[in-house]
Amino acid sequence: MIIMKQKSIEDILDALSGEKKVFIAGCADCATTCKVGGEEEVEEMKKKLEEAGFEVTGTCIFDTACLSGEVRQKGKDFKEALEAADSVLVLACGTGVQTIGDVLELVVHPGTESLFTGQVVRLGKYEEKCRTCGECLLEYTDGICPVTRCSKGLLNGPCGGYSKDGKCEVDPEKDCAWLLIYERLKARGHLEKMKEIQAPKDYSKMLSPRRLVWERGTAKVGGGSK
Ligand code: SF4
Ligand code: SF4
Repeated sequence: MIIMKQKSIEDILDALSGEKKVFIAGCADCATTCKVGGEEEVEEMKKKLEEAGFEVTGTCIFDTACLSGEVRQKGKDFKEALEAADSVLVLACGTGVQTIGDVLELVVHPGTESLFTGQVVRLGKYEEKCRTCGECLLEYTDGICPVTRCSKGLLNGPCGGYSKDGKCEVDPEKDCAWLLIYERLKARGHLEKMKEIQAPKDYSKMLSPRRLVWERGTAKVGGGSK
């Protein structure tokens, strides 16, 4: 899921300066799990904006704010309140903000910072595990991503700089990803995978903006300058 945090109220008020009427949109998916754009947070934001002198013309929580069809449909249910507002404050990820802006053709303000795609370890604890590189190597590492979890993104490791207690030389707070990979492969009897030299990564697969289109059962992936 997309991990995000809410922008400060000062930044939000700054973005809304010069406007009087606002509609607030949240998202029942990632933004709710991250506690930045669910029912509770939308209600809290409404109170804060009203205290600051804004008229809140309406609020809604999209089931998934990055789904164009869902935004188009729900936009019709809230047409009047949306059209009465100068802008929409969106408490969802950057993709949700743009989906609402594109589909409903309204002025949008982001109310959150989208940080990374992450694993929910537990509510309130999120960890980045994948950088969506487009060329997955987890097969060779038994499920631990070196691209994301090794501070240097080494495809063949470790670098030799890890400490005696197995911490990374770049970030002593975290375990060396390549030692974790070694321990896992060893425990599962897969150590021969460590001997396979991985070729340099094709970073063109990470060029943005990426897109994927299904055509006759085939996924066509494009991105960057392609
Ligand atoms: S190698 Fe890592 S960054 Fe790339 S797709 Fe797999 S998990 Fe994601
Ligand atoms: S110590 Fe480990 S995690 Fe840190 S950069 Fe070196 S190989 Fe990567």
